[in-house]
Formats: sequence, C-alpha cells, structure tokens
Amino acid sequence: MALPGLMARLNCREYKNWMKAGQCLLMLQSRLRGYVDAEMQRFHRQLASRITAPRQRKRCQCRAKGKQFQPNCPVCAQWKELILAHHNNKNGEIHWGNSDPSLWSTHYWEVAKVFMPRGQTQLKGPTQCDAAALLNLINACDYFRIPNISRVREMIKCRNDLMHSSDMMVSSPWLKDFGEKMYDLIAEFTHVPGLVREGEKMQEVLSFDWNVEDLGMYEVDGPEKEYLQTERCITMGGSGLSSDNVEILLIRQLIQELYLEIEEQGSLSKEDEDKISKFKNFLSQNEDLKSALQGDLERLDSLWKNNVPLNAEGYV
Ligand SMILES: [Zn+2]
Repeated sequence: MALPGLMARLNCREYKNWMKAGQCLLMLQSRLRGYVDAEMQRFHRQLASRITAPRQRKRCQCRAKGKQFQPNCPVCAQWKELILAHHNNKNGEIHWGNSDPSLWSTHYWEVAKVFMPRGQTQLKGPTQCDAAALLNLINACDYFRIPNISRVREMIKCRNDLMHSSDMMVSSPWLKDFGEKMYDLIAEFTHVPGLVREGEKMQEVLSFDWNVEDLGMYEVDGPEKEYLQTERCITMGGSGLSSDNVEILLIRQLIQELYLEIEEQGSLSKEDEDKISKFKNFLSQNEDLKSALQGDLERLDSLWKNNVPLNAEGYV
C-alpha cells in the first residue's frame, strides 16, 4: 500500500509539474557535461599557450577568496588578465574564490570555475556540476559563441524559479512556458551530441502523466493503461530516470541552494526561516523522502538551530 504522503504528493498536479521541469534540467545537464568538458579543455589549452611568464617549479602561494583575487606572482597575474578578457561579467561579480589560482596552469576546471556562480570550490569537474552551473559558465565565458545567448539566460531564470519555489510546485502555464524555452534553448545547441534526441524525450516527460492508487501506479497517457510493478518506479516519460531518483536529486539541489543563500547573507533571514520551516513540514508529511534525505536534514537542522551557516563551500 502506498504511503499517504507519497500518494498525495505524486497525484498533485503542481508538484508533478515541478518534478517534470526538474527532470528535464537533469537531462539537459547530463548532455551538456560532455560538451562543456571538451570545450573547456580546448579553451584552457588556448589560454595556457598565451602565458609568457616563466613557470615556477613549485606551486605558487596565490589564493583567492570570495569575489577578491590579488595575484602575487606573474603567472597568476597573466591568467587573471586572460580570464577577465573572456569574462562577460567583468564589470559585475566574479567568484574568484571558486577556484585555486595556483592550479590554473595545470587544471582546466579551476579556470572554468571562475565563470560560474559561487559554491563550486570543492567541485573537481563537470560531472559534479548541475545545469545551473553549466548554463552560467556558457553565459559568462565568451569562448562559447551561442548565437542567441538570451535563450541560455531564460533557462537560467527558469531553473532559479524552480529551485526557489519553496513549496516545490509550479503551475501548468509555467510548465508550458518552460517547455517552449527548453525547445528554444536546444535549438541553440544542435551541435551537442545527443541533445536533440534528449529534447524529444523531454517533450515526452513534459506531456507524460500518471496517477497513484493504493494498488500501485499506472501511466495515464501511455499507449495502454499499464500497471507498474512497484510503487516507486515510475519512469518519467522516455527519460529512463525513476521518479524517486529525480525527487532526491532535485531536493538535494534545493538544499544546496538554501545553504549558499544563507552563507552569502551570513545569517538566516525571516524568509530563509520560513523556507526551512515549509520544507521541514513538507518532509514530515513525506516519510519516504524524509528517510532518504536524513543526512541532508540533519545538516539543515544544525544550520537552523545554530543560526549560522555550516561550511557551505564544503557542502556537496
Ligand atoms: Zn600565483
């Protein structure tokens, strides 16, 4: 028999919408990773060939913190200049603290992280990056020559809407708009291997529907009404991911966002407290998710009780 919270959640239209959009972003991220990886390696080789300062035998001591970086050696000074020359946000915020400058010459991903939003310090490569990090990199680095970059920005906004929705629900008109924006985005990336096909699968995910009954789950829009074997194995459209995996992955991203927001502000705002409170309430009604996210919840609890952020940079 299905748990009451699970049934209510997976039968709620707006929550299903939230899951579907999140699912599409997970699919996008999996295709963008390989592409961004190859492009950044090429870009890094191009930049490295332009460093004329003599390389030191030992790693230098230059370190960045937050939005600040003052190079102490000629190699890092040149790297900083080159990175800035290719940064589309050179007059705005640059999160130098994401990366370790002393590794710029040898680790291409340390260079990539300067083009990303905060919270990347511990991440070692594209396989650890979510769609937001990859899209922001594409948006901030002029090596990626995307004809209509506004489509990338629109998708970043959609993703932020989704992750900042504290009740984890979005309306059907919002989801329709999201589907159109995803379609437009993919049109800018037809050269990314497998992405067009993935876009077709996303359309299946977006139009897919299901209902949960005590007996189990069945697809509503499938070719035939088909009872699935277990309660927790809805495979969402053609995506190949099961609903419980999608939920856990998305909720982890949501918690991560919350951490970063709180760390940026240095304390909990009233809005954060409300968000955490809503979130805890949601999980208390959904025992299946609560047990799967126990470790994440303990971190969140500790954050709440101490009213100070944990080491969010270290939270992965
Ligand atoms: Zn240095």
